[in-house]
Amino acid sequence: MIEGADNLFGTQLPTYTLVRGRRRTLSVEVRPHGDVIVRSPLRLSIPAIEVFLLERAEWIRERRREALAVRSELPRPSSPEEALHRGAIVNIRSMGHTYTSFPRWQRREAIRVFSDVITQVLPAIGVPGLRFRGLAVRSMRRRWGSCTNTGKITLNERLIIVPDDCIRAVIVHELCHLVHLNHSPAFRQLTRDVFPEIDEADAVLDKWSAILTESAPKTTSGAIGPAERRILPGAFDTW
Ligand SMILES: [Zn+2]
Repeated sequence: MIEGADNLFGTQLPTYTLVRGRRRTLSVEVRPHGDVIVRSPLRLSIPAIEVFLLERAEWIRERRREALAVRSELPRPSSPEEALHRGAIVNIRSMGHTYTSFPRWQRREAIRVFSDVITQVLPAIGVPGLRFRGLAVRSMRRRWGSCTNTGKITLNERLIIVPDDCIRAVIVHELCHLVHLNHSPAFRQLTRDVFPEIDEADAVLDKWSAILTESAPKTTSGAIGPAERRILPGAFDTW
């Protein structure tokens, strides 16, 4: 993490996370939460990187303003006793839970709800739905779900905090990858046949994506976390 105040041009640049890798070009991305991620070749100097950022400072500010505005529209727990669950704020204590029992209960609920939706949706996918090889539920920082070419669906356990239609949209999306391992027009058509309101649900989910990175495991490098890396080989990206 490189603090904005410490950069070579005074305070004009935002705080950003620098991820170096084997690449030829620089890129900058503003995450839904407002974080700025810069990807750079291994040996490029900090001044060169910051000149690049300075040229894009206005664009970065604009994207961050948009990200933070979207985020303020979402329901927000106002005390530690409140939590998000299936698109609403719930009170942990009035549900009979403690701070430690609630996350465990919510994870079990996630597995139960996701499994129910999969059971409902699979028949609509048709015969290729038989390729379904099981569900894994784990915490991911950047994706709501993924599907491997061997038919395994992985869903983010944080998906249980979004409204039910958004949960269904992600599951329909992933299960349709059992038929088309791409985002072709045929894939899009299948998702709409199975769930006609999927575009509206996806638009709502986009807003919720702003909180995907919160309270999820962080990695020191700012790169993808171990849980995410485990599912990358042969997996198809979604969100
Ligand atoms: Zn996809």
